[in-house]
Amino acid sequence: AAWEKEVRRSAKPRKDGGIAVLVTGAAGFVGTHCSLALRARGDGVLGLDNFNAYYDPELKRARQRLLAGRGVLVLDADINDALLLEKLFDLVPFTHVLHLAAQAGVRYAMEAPQTYVASNVAGLVTVLEVAAKHADPQPAIVWASSSSVYGLNTDAPFSEEHRTDRPASLYAATKKAGEAIAHTYNHIYGLSITGLRFFTVYGPWGRPDMAYFFFAKSIVSGEPITLFRAADGADARRDFTYIDDVVKGCLGALDTSGKSTGSSKSGKKSGPAPLRVYNLGNTSPVPVTRMVAILEKLLGKKANKRIVAMPSNGDVPFTHANVTHAAHDFGYRPTTSLDAGLRHFVDWFADYYKLKLDVPKIAAKVAGAGKPS
Ligand code: NAD
Repeated sequence: AAWEKEVRRSAKPRKDGGIAVLVTGAAGFVGTHCSLALRARGDGVLGLDNFNAYYDPELKRARQRLLAGRGVLVLDADINDALLLEKLFDLVPFTHVLHLAAQAGVRYAMEAPQTYVASNVAGLVTVLEVAAKHADPQPAIVWASSSSVYGLNTDAPFSEEHRTDRPASLYAATKKAGEAIAHTYNHIYGLSITGLRFFTVYGPWGRPDMAYFFFAKSIVSGEPITLFRAADGADARRDFTYIDDVVKGCLGALDTSGKSTGSSKSGKKSGPAPLRVYNLGNTSPVPVTRMVAILEKLLGKKANKRIVAMPSNGDVPFTHANVTHAAHDFGYRPTTSLDAGLRHFVDWFADYYKLKLDVPKIAAKVAGAGKPS
């Protein structure tokens, strides 16, 4: 069939030695950037996404069009569709799966708890099940966990060895469950699985449900924004991590996720398949109030701020990554400051919405703010 031909074309590496990657959640924020980067370096990429309406599906369609323009096909499909996944593994000998599809967002978990279980627990199991039993060869899996697994830890910066048994939200609990499930599939089926704990990723083509994005919208429209202050009076802080840094980390993790740890040259039997977990953060937490101040400067407009006590809604007071392991194993080194990263975001934001929301004035201001000061 025509669609099968398209699947094979999209997934075929264009360079010798390129990898063939199935990217789930490919029309998502991180999935779009990773798919573009893989494609740009000559790897084969097939995306899938269910285009759910948790946030603006049109933004996901726009990302899908962007990817299509670079030769990457993103299928409309759910990760719980095991038959379709099996069919895709029949069509393509994927070397890797970059599993990013999930129900993201901490607060929405209080409104739609079952969505988190369906995508982040059942969906992960479906992907691992098919990869373990129905794919030949078995692909190496790299998947998105989250910094939220550190929950109420206070001993920052967070290292991978720190305790993760106190999730503060159902979202965090499903990611923690995912890490346990990864252990099982590695243990029983010898799947190579790498979990990446992302720390508040932001940038162009970002997620409208995340603070930096909806704060930018509110500043433009004059709507009030609500900031949370912890019980001890401290501002909430986040280890904001720029998307390009995260993409480098994802590609590094994919490239070192190979199944064998033994030497094939010596003819020795391969060692056990690796099970790994890495922090991908920026290592320099910033108060959310500082993030708002940078946005105000870039947008040329003051925010209408309301500061309230931090509610018990799953948010944690701060996050802070130690990235020693990712640095050691695949040279991960975040290099983008929040000022520089937000400048790129606002540039994109103004460009994207000037067509849709008619904010040409903002675009002009951002162009001014983009000049080196
Ligand atoms: P995103 O919501 O933009 O991307 C996820 C994509 O998965 C969406 O396009 C969505 O439509 C799709 N999806 C959801 N459920 C699906 C299902 N059942 N079947 C098929 N597709 C489905 O989020 P993102 O920011 O790109 O996050 C990517 C991954 O990283 C997620 O697993 C998220 O939990 C994790 N993560 C993100 C951050 C961050 O700051 N962005 C931080 C920690 C962890």
